[in-house]
Amino acid sequence: MYGPKGYLGVIAVALAAALGSGISRAAQASQERPAGLVLRNANVIDVASGAVVRNATVVVSGTRIERVASTRVEAPAGVREVDLGGKFVLPGLIDAHVHISNLDAARRALLSGVTTARSMGTGNFADVGLRELLRAGHIDAPEILAAGYHIRPDPADGLFLDAPELGDLIASGLKGTEALRRAVRVMLAHRVDFIKVNATERAGTPQTDPRKPLYSEEELRAIVEEARTRGIPVAAHAHGDEGGRAAVLAGVRSIEHGTFLSDSTLRLMASRGTYLVPTIAVVTDLTLPGGDYDNAGLQIRGRFMLPRLRETASKAHRAGVKIVAATDTGYGPNSVVRLSHELEELVGVGLTPLQAIQSATTVAAELLGIQDRTGRVAPGLEADLIVVERNPLEELRTLQDVLMVVNNGKIVLDRLNW
Ligand SMILES: [Zn+2]
Repeated sequence: MYGPKGYLGVIAVALAAALGSGISRAAQASQERPAGLVLRNANVIDVASGAVVRNATVVVSGTRIERVASTRVEAPAGVREVDLGGKFVLPGLIDAHVHISNLDAARRALLSGVTTARSMGTGNFADVGLRELLRAGHIDAPEILAAGYHIRPDPADGLFLDAPELGDLIASGLKGTEALRRAVRVMLAHRVDFIKVNATERAGTPQTDPRKPLYSEEELRAIVEEARTRGIPVAAHAHGDEGGRAAVLAGVRSIEHGTFLSDSTLRLMASRGTYLVPTIAVVTDLTLPGGDYDNAGLQIRGRFMLPRLRETASKAHRAGVKIVAATDTGYGPNSVVRLSHELEELVGVGLTPLQAIQSATTVAAELLGIQDRTGRVAPGLEADLIVVERNPLEELRTLQDVLMVVNNGKIVLDRLNW
């Protein structure tokens, strides 16, 4: 969704920089990357099967998981050992729809247990920059899959400032297959990992009707085809059925939100393997004062949309559509939605706790195309781990209170050893 306040946040950060007050360095890398790590006395959740490996030892070598052993393993000399005292270990969570645009927000997401995030639209290619800063080891942040700007008929001004070669489209907007192909090529030139298009209007802005389609199937197909020339998938924001169905037929990889999708579109998604990222929890934010959205009109709209979105997500799950968890938040200082809230919403619409956890780990990794790197606690995968107090398969709420976060082998949050 992403309403007006997110952009104000971006402006506030830019303003702080311009005034020379300095941006907080909260996300800068906190320490040298360790040689290794041994987590003892861990109850490791195999999120693929739901099995719990009791009293396990997790051996991390560099940035990767080396082994998960149910027997005693000697730690190599100089490697840090942590006794987890029977706490539960899961893979770091994947938030498949965020609008993180600065270092503090990235840090906030990471400390909530999110070690991978798919950026679904941000200004000034901030997501590409965050991805590169992390890769170079300068910051502690989730791994970011970047989308750059969302493609929509009235894109953010920043798109034209970053890509003045699109300037002739300021007056006409991003409409028609040729203009859309050009916009996609700009994103690809900025090395995005995903293309995000708004197939319908937004819900988080008071003047727009989220049911209104914005592009024809032909236009959406042009976007999908152009992105495919570089093997890049497309995600479509869609609340209304007409725009959502057109996006599915055009070949997008995921539908974001999906509030008003019809039963026949859901069946189509199930048969084509199109993912649904319903982002239910952020609509609860719409209905309440504060948070990312704080507007009377949106509160009224949200109270109508929330039960409808829950109904659609429930039908989608029953129809066999693959469901992926996401917050749709900017992780700003006033954001109140976390991925754990979305997992509870997904259980509310019929997923089992294991399926809800999979929607933020294994299934999300498939959507992002990174299942060979992350999403499970298994040898060879990135050492992205979270530690929680209780068994989340029995008490999902424990994910709201993450005690330790390991990101690419490095402990970035430790609330066990004060
Ligand atoms: Zn969004």
